[in-house]
Amino acid sequence: MKQILLGPPQIDKADVQAVAKVVKSGNLSLGEETIKFEQEMAKFVGAKYAAATSSGTTALHLAVVAGGIKAGDEVITSPFSFVASTNCFLYEKAVPKYVDINPQTFNLDVNKIEKAITRKTKAIVGVDIFGYPAEWEQILAIAKKHRLLVIEDAAEALGAKYQGKKLGSLGHPTVFAFYPNKQMTTAEGGALVTNDQSQYKLIKGLLNQGRGPNLNWLKHLYLGYNYRLTEIQAALGRSQLKKLPRFLSKRNQVVKWYNQRLVKVPGVILMQANDPDHERSWFVYVVRLDKNIDRNKVIQKLGNAGIPSKAYLPSIHLQPYMKPFGFKTGDFPVSESVSASTLALPFYTAMKESTVNQVCETLKKVLK
Ligand SMILES: *Cc1c(COP(=O)(O)O)cnc(C)c1O
Repeated sequence: MKQILLGPPQIDKADVQAVAKVVKSGNLSLGEETIKFEQEMAKFVGAKYAAATSSGTTALHLAVVAGGIKAGDEVITSPFSFVASTNCFLYEKAVPKYVDINPQTFNLDVNKIEKAITRKTKAIVGVDIFGYPAEWEQILAIAKKHRLLVIEDAAEALGAKYQGKKLGSLGHPTVFAFYPNKQMTTAEGGALVTNDQSQYKLIKGLLNQGRGPNLNWLKHLYLGYNYRLTEIQAALGRSQLKKLPRFLSKRNQVVKWYNQRLVKVPGVILMQANDPDHERSWFVYVVRLDKNIDRNKVIQKLGNAGIPSKAYLPSIHLQPYMKPFGFKTGDFPVSESVSASTLALPFYTAMKESTVNQVCETLKKVLK
């Protein structure tokens, strides 16, 4: 029997050919593939501009630098996320001000944001965790009222819609990511999209060693970075992006198969369903286990039966490297309890109904 993986990418012959063509051409960086990938990404999400980057993390960092977030500035963000949404401003020595999450959506609890704002608050980095859109109407209203910068980490949410609009089209800088476990991949890679032309130009310069867009190769306007995506990756991205609508609908189908089988299983809580304002793009299939269930035992028993699963995600404020900030258990109780009970099951575009069935039957057995 084939080994079941947690979240492998979906790669086909066309992807391989697209990559091979670029490798053979010898044009490996700063070329047409990247420009076209950027244009196609912008079009897909409904933004004016997209800048391709070497990862989602580097795109987030660029948004922070371009936004002028500096040492000592406070940034409001979610503790229930992948570390990149916090690290992007730690690189600039800004200070995390976590706000606890909503227990249903796992995104920032917008009713708690204003209490966290001080005179030092500079920005909100909102995350669309597990592909579910955060409460952008409220976040943007709070940001406007307090004159805060907004950066959106939509790394897990490519294709998701908020109030009928694709994430990335709302105007503020929004970041996507293409690591192999994401909805589409460029191996490593990311993109920052925006509707603001001057911001876009600044980002394009920053990711290319601080060069101005039309300037001499050896003229550097500001301290920049090498955060470029390669032509090889851009070619893979273009090939993947063509298939993305199909990928997303297949992922929706896999979720339906899972939900049908797990909706009535005692002790298993499914993720927040869509509503007219929120259309998730499925990144991972995560369930919450009742707090009386020993999650580690479940993971171990699933593993013994050949089914990988993962405690996903830990809360960032309790990560060992965050120690200097002095956070402690109990600071963000909702995030912590979600972190203690969520379980990621195998989930990928090509997943078959029979495999979903095998995972669900095994999980049911393990829970008994
Ligand atoms: C994947 C991801 C990123 C970016 O990750 P990279 O590996 O740097 O591309 C950022 N934020 C979140 C929430 C993510 O899941």
